Amino acid sequence: FPLDVIRNFSIIAHIDHGKSTLADRLLELTGTIKKKETGKNEQVLDKLKVERERGITVKAQTASMVHSSNGKSHLLNLIDTPGHVDFAWEVSRSLAACQGALLLVDASQGVQAQSISVFHIAKERGLTIIPVLNKIDLPAAQPERIAAQMQSTFGINPADILSISAKTGKGVESVLQAVIDRIPAPQSDKNAPAKAFLFDSLYDRYRGVISLVNIQNGILRKGDKIASCHTRKKYEIAEIGIMYPEEVSTDILCPGQVGYIACNMKESSEAHIGDTLHRVGEPVPPMPGFKPSKAMVYAGIFPVDSSDFPKLEESIKRLTLTDRSTLHMDVFRQRLEDEYDANIIITAPTVPYKVLYRDGTEKFISNPTEFPDMSDSTTKVSEIQEPIVKASIIVPEEYFGDMMELCYSRRAEELDHRYLDAGSDASSSRIILTCVIPLSEIVTDFFDQLKSRSSGFASFDYEDAGYQKSDLAKMVFLLNGKPVDALALIVHRSAQDTIGRAWVKKLHKVIPRQLFEVPIQAAIGKKVIARETLSANRADVTAGLYGGHYERKLKHLENQKEGKKRLKRIGTVDLPQEAFFDILKR
Ligand code: GDP
Ligand code: MG
Repeated sequence: FPLDVIRNFSIIAHIDHGKSTLADRLLELTGTIKKKETGKNEQVLDKLKVERERGITVKAQTASMVHSSNGKSHLLNLIDTPGHVDFAWEVSRSLAACQGALLLVDASQGVQAQSISVFHIAKERGLTIIPVLNKIDLPAAQPERIAAQMQSTFGINPADILSISAKTGKGVESVLQAVIDRIPAPQSDKNAPAKAFLFDSLYDRYRGVISLVNIQNGILRKGDKIASCHTRKKYEIAEIGIMYPEEVSTDILCPGQVGYIACNMKESSEAHIGDTLHRVGEPVPPMPGFKPSKAMVYAGIFPVDSSDFPKLEESIKRLTLTDRSTLHMDVFRQRLEDEYDANIIITAPTVPYKVLYRDGTEKFISNPTEFPDMSDSTTKVSEIQEPIVKASIIVPEEYFGDMMELCYSRRAEELDHRYLDAGSDASSSRIILTCVIPLSEIVTDFFDQLKSRSSGFASFDYEDAGYQKSDLAKMVFLLNGKPVDALALIVHRSAQDTIGRAWVKKLHKVIPRQLFEVPIQAAIGKKVIARETLSANRADVTAGLYGGHYERKLKHLENQKEGKKRLKRIGTVDLPQEAFFDILKR
C-alpha cells in the first residue's frame, strides 16, 4: 500500500456511546469480519471475559481494514482506545499513532466529561477530528441540540457532523468515506532508517509479548535485528504482520502502517509504551515525550490461605506479564479470579505519598505499613505530600448541589463551574464543574457515589495535578491488641475520628464472635481513636442468646474452617474472607 492510501485513526467516545458497535460495523462493512447472525451482539474488539461482562474495553485493540473509494483501495487502521474513566493515559498514547479521530457522541446523551478531555488531547496532537452523532435511531435522540452542544463545547461546525446509527448501520458508510477524505495520510520516509513507534502490547502464551507498532519511517521485515531506544535491548523479529482483525503475518511492515511484531520479548515490562524501535546499527532519534508509565494507585493482595502464596505470586506475575495496564482494581481482581482461580483479599487502594526529610531527601511510599509515625518527636520527616488531580464533572443542573457536597466532603478545592449548553432552556441545562481533589479521595468509591447521587447522569474525568502538602497519618486497626496489616490506612487528620469510628463499627459487625472477648481498636501512633469490644461467645449460651440463625452461621464457619478455606487467622482471631470484603468495600 502506497502511503497516500493509508489512514490511521481512532474513535473517541464516552463509555456506552457506541464505540465498539461502530468498530464492528466498520469491520463488517469492509469485509474484515463476517456480519454476525442476529441475536449475537458480542463485540469483536472487546475480547476479555471481563470486558464483555462489564461492557468496558480494558485493552486497546487495533484492527486494519481495506476499503475501496473512487476505484482506489485504502488501508484503514483503526486504533481502538479504552473508554473507561481510569484509562485516559492509554487513550492519549494510542492517539500518538493516529492522524485523525472520530469523535463519537450519543445523540440522546450529549457530550460527556471523558470525550472532552480526550478531545483536547487529540486537538493538541494536531489530529483531524471527525464529529459523529450516534444512535440517531433512538426516539430520545436530539441531534440538533447535541450538535449545538458540540459546536459550543468543541468549536465544531455543525455542517461537518455525520449522523449515524451504529446499531442499524445507517450512515456508517459515510464514516468510512470521511476517514478517507478528511484525515491526512501519515507522513513517512520510506528511505530513512526504520523507526517504529510502540503504542501497545499484547501477550500470547506461545509467542510471548506482541508489540503493536506504527511504522514512522523505513521498512521492517521478518528476521530484522531491532533495538529499543529506551532499554537498548536487542531482539530479532520472529513474526511481523497486521491485525486483520487477528494477527495475520505479512513478513513486512511498510511506512505508515500499523501492525504487530513478535520478537521473543519475555515480559510485558520490556515493551515500554511510547518507546521507539529501530534496526540494530541504524539508530534513530526516539519519539519525543516518552515517559515510562507511573502507577498512581496501589493495593496489597493477600491469599486467603497462606499456603497459596507461591501460586498467587505466580498468577500475579503472569497477569502483569500479559497486561500491565490492568490498573482497575476490580478488573484486576476479577481477572485473577476468572483466569487464575485465585482466592484473595485485596486491601483498600492507596496512592503514592511523597515523604520529605529534614536532610532534603525524599521518598515515595505506597504501602501504608511503611508510613512514618508523625507523632514521634524524633521524626526525621519534615513534610508529607499527597498526589492531587484536576477533576471535571459534567452534571445536569438539578444535581449540581449534590455534586458540590460530594466534592467538598472529599476535600475538593477551587471549585469552578459553568453552563455547557450556552443559551439553552434552563430545565435541561448541564453544568461542568472543575476542582482540585486529592487522588486518594477518588480511588475508592468516588465514581460510584457520583453515579448514585446523580441518578447515573454525572460524568467524570481527571488529570494529574502534581503533589500538595497534606496533614496525613497512618491508622492501624488492632484485633486483640495485634495490628492487622491488610487493614492499615492512611487518613487525613480532619477525617480520622469519623473513619476510625466507622471502621471499628464495621469490623465489630462483620467479625464473628470468638470464644474470648476481642477488643477492636483504631489507633494513630500510640493513640487509640476508636474502640469496640466483641463480647465472648460461650457455646452453652449461644443458642439462647443469638437464636438458630447465629448457630447455623457459626456451624457454617466451623465447616469452612475444617476445610481450611476462606478463613484468615490474624493473631488469635479468625476472620472470614467475606468480612474482609465487607470492610474493604467501605
Ligand atoms: P462503547 O462503550 O462505546 O463501546 O459502546 P457499545 O458499542 O458497547 O454500545 C453501548 C450500547 O449502546 C450497546 O447496548 C449498543 O447496542 C448500543 N448502541 C450502540 N450504537 C447504537 C445505535 O446507533 N443505536 C442504538 N439504539 N443503540 C446503540
Ligand atoms: Mg466498548
